[in-house]
Amino acid sequence: MEKIKMTTPLVEMDGDEMTRILWKMIKEELLLPFVDLKTEYYDLGLSYRNETDDQVTIDSANATKKYGVAVKCATITPNAARMDEYDLKEMWKSPNGTIRAILDGTVFRTPIKVKGIEPCVKNWESPITIARHAYGDVYKNVEMKIPGAGTAELVFTAKDGTQTKETIFEFESCGIIQGQHNVEASIESFARSCFTYALDQKQELWFATKDTISKKYDHTFKDIFQEIFDSEYKEKFEAASITYFYTLIDDAVARVMKSKGGFIWACKNYDGDVMSDMISSAFGSLAMMTSVLVSPEGYYEYEAAHGTVQRHYYKHLNGEETSTNSVATIFAWTGALRKRGEIDGIKELAAFAGHLEKACVDTIEAGKMTKDLALITDIAQPTVLNSEDFIKEIRKELEKIYA
Ligand code: NAP
Ligand code: MG
Repeated sequence: MEKIKMTTPLVEMDGDEMTRILWKMIKEELLLPFVDLKTEYYDLGLSYRNETDDQVTIDSANATKKYGVAVKCATITPNAARMDEYDLKEMWKSPNGTIRAILDGTVFRTPIKVKGIEPCVKNWESPITIARHAYGDVYKNVEMKIPGAGTAELVFTAKDGTQTKETIFEFESCGIIQGQHNVEASIESFARSCFTYALDQKQELWFATKDTISKKYDHTFKDIFQEIFDSEYKEKFEAASITYFYTLIDDAVARVMKSKGGFIWACKNYDGDVMSDMISSAFGSLAMMTSVLVSPEGYYEYEAAHGTVQRHYYKHLNGEETSTNSVATIFAWTGALRKRGEIDGIKELAAFAGHLEKACVDTIEAGKMTKDLALITDIAQPTVLNSEDFIKEIRKELEKIYA
C-alpha cells in the first residue's frame, strides 16, 4: 500500500514517562507504516521544558494557532517531588494549563465504548461527553494565608481610580482566602464552543453551576449561556431536534446518574476536571477517555485524558513488563489525523483514522487487551497483553482492514 500523503503538518507535542514510551511505539507500529507523517515536533518532556524555561510549551501552543491541529502526549505537572527528580530550576506550571490559557478553548472528553467493557452505571447506554471550560476559576486563583486577626476585602480599582469594595471576612484568628476570576469573553467562547459542538454531534447540551449560592459569579455563567443560546442557537437547536437545558449542579449530578447517556454536559473548569474522572472511571477506564481542546477560532488539540502513568514507567525502568493501555493516546492521534484530513480535504487520511479506531475496538472485542481492561471486562478469559504486544495486535487488525 502506498503511504497516505499529508499536506499540512500536525503540531506534535511529545510528553513524559510511560506515555512517552507508548508515543514512540504508536508512531512506529501504527502510523509511520501507513502515513507519510508530517509533524512539527515539540518536546514537552519535563527535561526539555526545564531546559527552555518552559518556552517550548508556549511555542507549541502558538504553533497550534498557526496550523490549527495538534496532538499531545501526557506530560508531568511538576510538584515538590519532581523538583528533585528532574533537578528543576522552577516548579513549571501545568503544560495543559498554559496551552489552554493561550488557546482559550473548551475541552471535550468522551469515553470510548467497546462491547465487553460495560459502564458500572447500568443505564448509561451511550457515552457522556464532558465539556470543560478551560480558563480561569481556581486554576488562575490567588491565595493568601491569613496570619491572624484582621479584615479581608475584595477590591476592584477601575482605570479612573474609583474603587469597589466587599468585605470577605473579619478574621479573629488565622485562616485562608482565595481570589478567583473569569472573563466574560472566555465564558462566551465556552458557550459558543459547547453549542457548536452539540450541533456537530447532534446531541443535547446540559449546563449546570451553583448559581443559587454564587449569585454573581456562577449566575453570570448561567446568564451568558442563556443569552447566547436565545440569540444565536435556539432555532438551530430546534431544527436539529436537540435541546439545551440549564439546571443546578446538584440536580445535574442526580440526573446524570439516572440518564441513558448520549449527551454533552458542560461544566465549569473545576467541575469538568472532577466529573470527567468520575465519568471515565464509571465508563470503564481512565485509559479509554479521549480529550480535545477546541478554541473559539476552531483550533484543535487532541490528547488522552489520563496522565503519564508514572507507576508503570517505574516498572518499565526496572526492566519489568508493563501492560499500559494505549487506546486513548491512539485516539488522540486519530482525532488529529481525521481533523487534518477534513480540513485539508484528504479523504484517505480521515478514513485511516476511522480504520485505526476500528482496529483498536476490534482487538479489544476479540478479547485481546491490557490488564486494566482485563480486570473489568465481561469477556470470558481475555488474553492479557503487555504494552507492546497490544499495539502489535492492533497493527494486525489494521492490516486486516487494509488487506
Ligand atoms: P495517571 O497517569 O492517569 O495514572 C493513574 C493510574 O491510573 C495509573 O497508575 C494506572 O493504574 C491507571 N492508568 C492511567 N492510565 C492508564 C493507562 N493508559 N493504562 C493503564 N492504566 C492506566 O495519573 P497519575 O499517576 O496521578 O499522574 C502521573 C503524572 O501524570 C503526574 O505527573 C501528573 O502531573 C500527570 N498528568 C498529566 C495529565 C496530562 O498531561 N493530560 C493528566 C493527568 C495527570 P494502576 O497503577 O493501578 O495500573
Ligand atoms: Mg483531573
